[in-house]
Amino acid sequence: MSDRPHQPVPDAYRRHPLRSWLRLALDARRAARDGPAAVAARQEARLRVIVAHARAHSPFYRHLWAGLPDAPRLEELPPVSKPELMARFDDWLTDPRVTLGAVEAFVSNPARAGELFASEFSVWTTSGTTGQRAVFVHDRLALGVYDALTVTQTHVLTKGAILRALGKGLRIATVVATGGHHVSTSLVNLNRHRFPALARRLRIFSVLTPMPRLVAALNAFDPAVLIGYPTALHLLALEAERGNLRVRPALVVVGGEVLTAQARDTIEHALGTRILDLYAAGEFPGIAFGCRFGRLHANADWVILEPVEADFSPTPPDRASHTVLITNLANRVQPIVRYDLGDSITVSSASCACGSPFPVLEVGGRKGDVLRFPSANGREIAVLPLALATVVEKTPGVRRFQAYQTGDRELRIRIEPDGEADGEATWARVAGRVDSFLASQGIVGVGLVRDEALPARDPRSQKFQAVWDARPRPAALATRIGEPS
Ligand SMILES: [Zn+2]
Repeated sequence: MSDRPHQPVPDAYRRHPLRSWLRLALDARRAARDGPAAVAARQEARLRVIVAHARAHSPFYRHLWAGLPDAPRLEELPPVSKPELMARFDDWLTDPRVTLGAVEAFVSNPARAGELFASEFSVWTTSGTTGQRAVFVHDRLALGVYDALTVTQTHVLTKGAILRALGKGLRIATVVATGGHHVSTSLVNLNRHRFPALARRLRIFSVLTPMPRLVAALNAFDPAVLIGYPTALHLLALEAERGNLRVRPALVVVGGEVLTAQARDTIEHALGTRILDLYAAGEFPGIAFGCRFGRLHANADWVILEPVEADFSPTPPDRASHTVLITNLANRVQPIVRYDLGDSITVSSASCACGSPFPVLEVGGRKGDVLRFPSANGREIAVLPLALATVVEKTPGVRRFQAYQTGDRELRIRIEPDGEADGEATWARVAGRVDSFLASQGIVGVGLVRDEALPARDPRSQKFQAVWDARPRPAALATRIGEPS
């Protein structure tokens, strides 16, 4: 245990960014080396700072925590949800310059992607697991922490991989579903702004691009690092097995969905590379990193995860939780304290063979199913859940949606219109956009059926899933993704 203050003050960070950043990176290393007690001490000290800051500068939390002691225990703080925080955005944030109106105006301009809002804050938008939009604002100290945590992961790179990355000019390809200010795109654009010399080596590829064109574009770019969703990179790895995709990156980084053992194997073998698995969210971009044994370790020195039941009582270790409460210990401008993230996680009671003191966890509930439809020439074409979600969610008037495949040529969709939006007109727009998206992928003749019910949690598991395969045949689970059955 140590009583040193582990949190550099933001003013010091502003004056000496490099020195503070080095200090953060060294501290993250030290926490990993010194073991669980050192991690717990950091958690406690940083929680005190975040709680005091939120209480002093966020009217929302000041009101919520009125009547609690000066230094409340974590369990005493009431859980909060995204809808209630978003509804009181201006009271939630701790800097009066950051209002929802000002931030929305900023993100509505795609040309400003990657710029810092008010020269201080990175702004990310996300639709999240439950399909409800949110806006996240991260301050410089938080961005420094996220960078420092990422740097501690360089151990996944072998000497050979580093040489290969240098040989490929450090080009980084990010394959994403969304543009503008959405989380992953924002991070790429932010780095383009911060490191202008590297800007043209950082490229974004849309996962909505038909596969043959995406493969050709990646072959031409020849990235050293390839970043994307596991389902998308799994499909790309199958293209590599077929000899179409010829890139051999030094490192593959996956996040946004669950990485299955099968996808990991296929990607590692087909692309001849190591994988860094990332559990990320707009609320905290590096919640957990995968180790060399393929297990996720939470960065518990900077983020607190509490697996809980539906009534927010704690879920015991080794059992899948209903949801998880997340507390971001790095970001002060938008305090996230015991926030219902919506993911089901399982924290392991056993430690990992890699020796990391950070808790081992598994994540479920982020994953939609990959859907498969026949093309005109009889081949089966895979549709990624995140790609379909993007097409539907970006339709004006859609608040939430669910889509499920009921037959080889039938897709049913539920939509919840946004506020005043007309249901029939919104449905017509959704159907038109999904039709042209499927056509762009080479899929024709799929009947779109509107399910009049509103999007809902699964009555049995109580989990919300946006996209799933509801075809009544077990083979749908057994066949390999993207391969003709
Ligand atoms: Zn491990």
